Amino acid sequence: MLCCPELDAVLAGGRLDVLLQPIFTLGNGRLLGYEALVRGPRGSLVESPLELFARAAHYGRLAELDALCRDSVLEAFAARVDDATLFLNMTPDGLMAWSANAEPVLARMAELALQPARVVIELTEFRPSAGYQELKAAIERLRAHGFRLALDDMGEGFSNLRLWSELKPEFVKLDKHFAYRLHQEPFKEQVVRSMVELARASRAQLIAEGIETLHELRLLQRLGVGCGQGYLLGRPAPQPQEAGEGSMLFMPQQEEAPVVAGAL
Ligand code: C2E
Ligand code: MG
Ligand code: MG
Ligand code: MG
Repeated sequence: MLCCPELDAVLAGGRLDVLLQPIFTLGNGRLLGYEALVRGPRGSLVESPLELFARAAHYGRLAELDALCRDSVLEAFAARVDDATLFLNMTPDGLMAWSANAEPVLARMAELALQPARVVIELTEFRPSAGYQELKAAIERLRAHGFRLALDDMGEGFSNLRLWSELKPEFVKLDKHFAYRLHQEPFKEQVVRSMVELARASRAQLIAEGIETLHELRLLQRLGVGCGQGYLLGRPAPQPQEAGEGSMLFMPQQEEAPVVAGAL
């Protein structure tokens, strides 16, 4: 059998490190919840979850890795956060495997006092090995327990408009590529406008990822994007960080001072 020592070590090793990144409502700076982001062993080739998941995909072990991440995240989140919403990343294959046998995880969540209604499952951009209908049925089974759904990285990879219209997610996360230098690229601005309209029409909440500068934040607010996350607002960290000193960022935009004739 094919094997990858770094991946084997992670899968055999118990829990993974979990970081939490805050997500805010952009209109008033209120905390919406935290996205959980896992890390492989520090300093290893698979410290980045992208490396880890790429290997798991290559060796056909996505669902196994997803279950380990999910269990690590649920334990860490329940221990560190009292009542906010958890945004939990899952590949489509991981989601389908979970949905087929949800009870053990639901029982553990009940022990942790973490209700499914507090958990939004972020469907990451990996292509599922099954078809749309099977994926949809798996999601509906988890929804019936109270979980909500986010489409991650809309506009990138597998996150597409067909998924949006078929799965009717409660949240859509706009890939970070679209926030990046938004104010310098008029076409991106048009894409974001269209996403805001689609979100309104489908009653989904739009979350912008990767907000790094005040320019990007202000423009996203002005375009009507409801929620956002990014290094400007809060980096992924072991302990939950709330807006704190960053809350000034959410003050409404100052109008430019009118130029008074003769004042210059
Ligand atoms: P993602 O879910 O799209 O997560 C967003 C990524 O953007 C994270 O990278 C985060 O650290 C990074 N990020 C956050 N704010 C900013 C910003 O302002 N600028 C930039 N440039 N990047 C920002 P990370 O932590 O390396 O995670 C990468 C991917 O790994 C995630 O993308 C997700 O697809 C996957 N992943 C992470 N944790 C899990 C997990 O528990 N389960 C699953 N299935 N996938 C996970
Ligand atoms: Mg995500
Ligand atoms: Mg994302
Ligand atoms: Mg991503």
